[in-house]
Amino acid sequence: PVGVLAVVGRPNVGKSTLVNRILGRKAAVVENKPGVTRDRVSYEANWNGSDFLVVDTGGWEAGVEGIDSEVANQAEIAVELADAVLLVVDAQTGLTDMDQRMVRMLRKSKKPVTVAVNKLDDVRDFAEASDFWRLGMGEPYPISAMHGKGVGDLLDACMTML
Ligand code: GDP
Ligand code: MG
Repeated sequence: PVGVLAVVGRPNVGKSTLVNRILGRKAAVVENKPGVTRDRVSYEANWNGSDFLVVDTGGWEAGVEGIDSEVANQAEIAVELADAVLLVVDAQTGLTDMDQRMVRMLRKSKKPVTVAVNKLDDVRDFAEASDFWRLGMGEPYPISAMHGKGVGDLLDACMTML
């Protein structure tokens, strides 16, 4: 059996960029505007000799009707089917209500969660991730998905959940 890791978070936080970084290739679609990944897509991945499935999802938008509620639904389905969850938040926008609502959904799911604080492109800013302890989801891992910084430590943490 292969563990399944669902990557969730608000639109535009860098989920698809992180999935590409994990895969080491451009497989997940990255766009400069929110909400491009509308569905959920699984990819076979490997970290330190362990195979797992990584699931990219559309941005989760709580309480929004129409297409965005569909996106929210896909993220919830992905979480339901996953063994562990990687919650991506954005250091450049900071903690938002949407992040907090997503955390409530994740708590209900009872799945193990690791928090990645993305867009910390300069390692000298990595300490800013500590603000996300407020989410109450354990240690926030600073990363730059775009530049590949911090992703190794993050994946080490994720693998302990799978
Ligand atoms: P998603 O909607 O959560 O899947 O986000 P995407 O992966 O599509 O990325 C949204 C935007 O954020 C794109 O313009 C990315 O280039 C940008 N982005 C993603 N990761 C980083 C990062 O580590 N640093 C910076 N500066 N931008 C990033
Ligand atoms: Mg995406």
